Amino acid sequence: MKNIPELFGSKVFNDKVMQARLPKSIYKAINETVQNGKPLELNVANVVANAMKDWATELGATHFTHWFQPMTGITAEKHDSFISPDGKGQIIMEFSGKELVKGEPDASSFPSGGLRATFEARGYTVWDVSSYAFIKDDTLCIPTGFCSYSGDALDKKTPLLRSMAALNKEATKFLNIIGKTDVTKVDTTVGPEQEYFLIDKDMYLKRPDLIYTGRTLFGARPSKGQELDDHYFGTLKARVSDFMKDFDSELWQLGILSKTKHNEVAPAQHELAPIFSTTNIATDHNQLTMEIAKKVANRHGLACLLHEKPFAGVNGSGKHNNWSMSTNIGENLLEPGPNPSKNTQFLLFLSAVIKAVDEYQDMLRISVASAANDHRLGAHEAPPAIVSMFIGDELGAIVDSIINDTPYATLGNQTMVTGTNVLPDFNKDTTDRNRTSPFAFTGNKFEFRMLGSAFSISGPNIVLNTAVAEALSEFSKKLEGAKDLEAAKKALIKETLTKHQRIIFNGNNYSDEWVVEAEKRGLLNLKTTVDALPKFIEPKNIELFTKNHVFTEIEIHSRYEIFLEEYSKTINIEALTASDMARQIILPACLAYQKEVVDLLNSKQTAGICAGIEKEIATELSELCENLYVEINKLSAVIEDAHDITDSLANAQFYRDSVLAAMNSVRAIADTLELKVSSAYWPLPTYGELLYSVH
Ligand code: ADP
Ligand code: MG
Repeated sequence: MKNIPELFGSKVFNDKVMQARLPKSIYKAINETVQNGKPLELNVANVVANAMKDWATELGATHFTHWFQPMTGITAEKHDSFISPDGKGQIIMEFSGKELVKGEPDASSFPSGGLRATFEARGYTVWDVSSYAFIKDDTLCIPTGFCSYSGDALDKKTPLLRSMAALNKEATKFLNIIGKTDVTKVDTTVGPEQEYFLIDKDMYLKRPDLIYTGRTLFGARPSKGQELDDHYFGTLKARVSDFMKDFDSELWQLGILSKTKHNEVAPAQHELAPIFSTTNIATDHNQLTMEIAKKVANRHGLACLLHEKPFAGVNGSGKHNNWSMSTNIGENLLEPGPNPSKNTQFLLFLSAVIKAVDEYQDMLRISVASAANDHRLGAHEAPPAIVSMFIGDELGAIVDSIINDTPYATLGNQTMVTGTNVLPDFNKDTTDRNRTSPFAFTGNKFEFRMLGSAFSISGPNIVLNTAVAEALSEFSKKLEGAKDLEAAKKALIKETLTKHQRIIFNGNNYSDEWVVEAEKRGLLNLKTTVDALPKFIEPKNIELFTKNHVFTEIEIHSRYEIFLEEYSKTINIEALTASDMARQIILPACLAYQKEVVDLLNSKQTAGICAGIEKEIATELSELCENLYVEINKLSAVIEDAHDITDSLANAQFYRDSVLAAMNSVRAIADTLELKVSSAYWPLPTYGELLYSVH
């Protein structure tokens, strides 16, 4: 690989490029917009656009696109070339400030949840100046927000930027009130860890379920699953290692801080973690990471599966959203420092997060809800559907001493004695890892672990930012004008922790006892997406988002409709795929094998040879095939019934309760048949083949 510092960011119109290519006054003006949100003047945009075009065409780009994040959860682009007629039959390459700042894609086919009728098809894309433009596939990509003609957000970026602004406003105000007057800006930072599967592309192409739905709808248990834990952190296979090198190289060129890579628990499962960055940039980068993973995999004859549960019986994939807040003077507000029990500012911010998570557990749950993620949350591989927080022994003891007014004895540094001469002894971290917790404090940040692997991280961060902004705004009201500020701060910490201590749970979140205990504590257990979504439109949540200018009430209702529809459509596609595969691929293969057995049975009987086994096998196959046929017909009927339900919530409930159940019944018989039919007849790559074929 060529010089990595030189490679890094080579396809990004970043600060270094701007400094080199823009006149000083323009560079200063654009920085003012990025840092302090000053409106962008058209003459500045014109100069920047021209410099961008020159830079991009030198690197081989021919087109530009506004790159945006509609409610589909993936990114969208519409390419325009730079060419412009010069009036003499020739062309010149042109890119104006107007084209840079605003685009007008026809938006009628993106999900809008009723926000926009098709006759009002116009949508606007608007440049997010704080996220650098970059080159992908010879196209200059400009990160943009996307909204309707009337200004309603139709995307995942606009409300994220609004939530960052809300947190910035409230956190800065609060810090100023408690005496940190030099703070003028607070950003949230995110490092998303990304899990994915890599399987052989040829096998992928033989599975309509993977192609249409991203997950296997059929597949009997393989002879070997993940029971030996021998894949976790194992040596990388040669093909995987080649893929990862190529993947890193592409990410680095786009300025994405890809840092850690390793094998995960399930066979064929891997993980990538970047170094954290500002939330909107981390979100853009994670979208790019997912897109590039698929593209690079393809080049290596592999398919990258980002679905939350591609295989039943082995772990699914998630995303860990590491989140913190940092000031313009470089202070991480969740850094406890050497003496957390005396660090009032830290304890205030910790209390704000605890309050936010407790009060908006429903919104955090909704932010990770999808038909796909329902297969993980609550299964014994991922956090449960109950939101709780892990803060570790030391902070736990501090919180207890504050609530109970008892003295706090520091745990101090605990030394880990390795017991050998060649390994040095070292200080233990005071927060151990609790892998079962949905929302864990890990040293100087919180790790929200319920996200699904295919998610845009935008939704969860919108909720986190807004809920914490709201908590801080309430804190500000309490401390503003306090006569004895120090006493008021202590009282506020005690009051908040006492009120919200129920959300803290340091035990095993996978245990059945926790479900009972959580219910006693009054915590929500919203088991499925359909249970969770109606909370979105409850008055308290509408109040949260409208008050903080993150969503309007109309936008909330439209998103609620979009999420319900997305849920139902996802299961509808799965159900159609399952019934088609069972009817057209699996049943015919089983019947063909059955015919071979029956033919042998007949010829043996004709020859007067005992055919006991053949009879037994043929009878069993025949019964299973008949049952399969009955269940496929039931599935088809139930899909038809679903189409008759017009209310979107009732429709989603029907898909969850009836259609999923019918799909599972078909699958159960098909999977039983798979283990009884000759592998020479089985028409689909098996779990064993899918999980163990990449070397
Ligand atoms: P692990 O959780 O696997 O032990 P690390 O502690 O190294 O890994 O961090 C995981 C992720 O958390 C990385 O993406 C890292 O950049 C990110 N991270 C570290 N500090 C912060 C922070 N202050 N804000 C947001 N993310 C952070
Ligand atoms: Mg982690």
